[in-house]
Amino acid sequence: MQSEISPVADEESADLLEFNSLKQFRPAGRGFWSHVPDEQWNDWRWQLKNRITSLEQLERLMPTLTPEEHAGTILSNTKLAMAITPYFFNLIDPADENCPIRRQVIPRIEETHTASWEMSDPCGEDSHSPVPGLVHRYPDRVLFLVTDRCAAYCRYCTRSRLVSNATGYDFHPEFDRQIEYIRNHPEIRDVLLSGGDPLLFSDDKLENLLKQLRAIPHVEFLRIGTRIPIFLPQRITPELCAMLKKYHPLFISIHSNHPRELTTEVRDALARLAEAGIPLGNQSVLLKHVNDDLTVMRALVQKLLMCRVKPYYLYQCDLITGSSHLRAGVRKGLELMDGLRGHTTGYAVPQYVIDAPGGGGKVPVNPEYVLSRNRDRTVIRNFEGKVFEYIEGAVAAPAYKASENFPVYKASEDFSVPNLAPG
Ligand code: SF4
Repeated sequence: MQSEISPVADEESADLLEFNSLKQFRPAGRGFWSHVPDEQWNDWRWQLKNRITSLEQLERLMPTLTPEEHAGTILSNTKLAMAITPYFFNLIDPADENCPIRRQVIPRIEETHTASWEMSDPCGEDSHSPVPGLVHRYPDRVLFLVTDRCAAYCRYCTRSRLVSNATGYDFHPEFDRQIEYIRNHPEIRDVLLSGGDPLLFSDDKLENLLKQLRAIPHVEFLRIGTRIPIFLPQRITPELCAMLKKYHPLFISIHSNHPRELTTEVRDALARLAEAGIPLGNQSVLLKHVNDDLTVMRALVQKLLMCRVKPYYLYQCDLITGSSHLRAGVRKGLELMDGLRGHTTGYAVPQYVIDAPGGGGKVPVNPEYVLSRNRDRTVIRNFEGKVFEYIEGAVAAPAYKASENFPVYKASEDFSVPNLAPG
């Protein structure tokens, strides 16, 4: 008897299978390092010392290296360096050229292709730095760049001009000058430590910095931006967590792009941070063939919540030089947001943003939910495409004149959901 299952139903069940598989927490495994004693494998300093940093190592561990990766790895000595922890390397599927983990950390020759609209400093950080290593772009907060080193290097890094110090940028943050600037600017109430990765510092060195910042009366709030829990979960030791919890309110933003990065090791490391009372958020970058897919993105944001991490931002990939092979379009980002909002828990939905090229700061971009608006009514559509009216005619004194302060969208006769499909 012939099967009555349609191709569409087949596709849906394949998506469901993939979704359920992506939602599983699995250990990264030992791979080539099965002979290494647990004590060493779980030691973050051993992981750092044994990173894959050369073409010879990479070829030995991954005979399936493509010609594009081979050529890209040779060139990575003269630009953003290559480094991959053994732990993270084990997440790569060597049989899959398009493995989403592989695309993030293995250089490709396409990194040498540049377009006229790409930039080495796409967010204009250098032009907003009153002292080297301190970016003061928003009124009440600063970005404090503490190091140029990371546990591994992301091929789309917006700071690839300075991280890994391979391009001769000569990054030497001067903590005394940075802290002095913060001390002399009472409007700064929020300091974000980033880099490079601040959690690569020893506990003592990091504590010394946090202590100095905490001693400034107008600094209300400290944040750390880090990808260490993803690249090197071994670094999240009980000692580090005990130190960090002394400096509350302290938030941590992690950076995870794909649900396969959320292993049992990462889940446990994040639990240690959460147990230290540290609120956790995640920043993802929208990347082509990595997470530009609704099944993948839904699994990622739901899995993050299971790790007590709030998906915070989804970034449109910055126009960093040599990243076009990794950039997905804004249309795709809007389509993903449309597929998340209302379809899953509100806490799981990040804010999609474009960091305005040249230094304009983060600008939220959203699918259109307001179909028309004037002083008496707002016409909206919900996640299912159903249209509703919110009437304000009963309000005696409107707070604004719509025509002066707000654009008025002309709704068409047919209030259908905007077609966001590529085309
Ligand atoms: S961890 Fe962050 S700073 Fe380091 S290479 Fe990746 S994106 Fe850049």
